[in-house]
Amino acid sequence: MKLPIVEPTDEFMRTMIQKINYERIISLRLKAENLRSIMEYHFAFIFSNIIILILDNLQDVNQINEVKTFISNLTCLSLRYEDKISFHRLSRIVNQIQIPIKRFEIYCTSIACSHDRTELLFIRKHNPTVETFVLNVAYTSLSLVNNCVQNYAKCVLRTITDFIKIMSNIRYVYVIINKGNVETLLDVDEWMAVAKRCEQLEKITLKVIKNMSKDTQLAQKIQEMENGLHIIRESIKFEVKVK
Ligand SMILES: [Zn+2]
Repeated sequence: MKLPIVEPTDEFMRTMIQKINYERIISLRLKAENLRSIMEYHFAFIFSNIIILILDNLQDVNQINEVKTFISNLTCLSLRYEDKISFHRLSRIVNQIQIPIKRFEIYCTSIACSHDRTELLFIRKHNPTVETFVLNVAYTSLSLVNNCVQNYAKCVLRTITDFIKIMSNIRYVYVIINKGNVETLLDVDEWMAVAKRCEQLEKITLKVIKNMSKDTQLAQKIQEMENGLHIIRESIKFEVKVK
């Protein structure tokens, strides 16, 4: 049986953790600010098998890099934010992490547009290890377009797709969104640019929360996405799933 450990308290670390078969502990969820103090416990070796690390509100990648020897088997890093995230800041995290993670996840409530795109576009260092990227913005109360300071229709989507481009060996992209935002993401040119840059890209999946009524305009856009991506590479799959 696998055992996720969520926000272990001091009491738990002192008294319980040694009683657990540490081969069963494969995931750990923490507030990012507590990561170092947890790893400094005498029994922190118990986390050496974790493959999934879920951090709330990580601001600085050094919080992970400083403890990387304790979590060297990590394959999935999942970052959760309760406020607006900046992809500029996240690009530094994904570029500077010193653990070869395969899966990178971001859960957030809204996205700051990168109106000034230069910094993001000209980042020379790419992350070569991430193969799967998950972005969950399903619980945003705003429309993605309104997240742009000047309400540019494509600004937030470009912020997302520019970010994906720095993961140069990405294979699978999942974006989980609410129904109100699906149309903003169905922009064939932006995704064709991702497919061109990321030569390993195999599949893009949009998961739409809440029932999507039958909408012929949307169906047409989905078809356009498929056709456009097939121009770049016949093997690329594109799928919209409705939950
Ligand atoms: Zn903008």
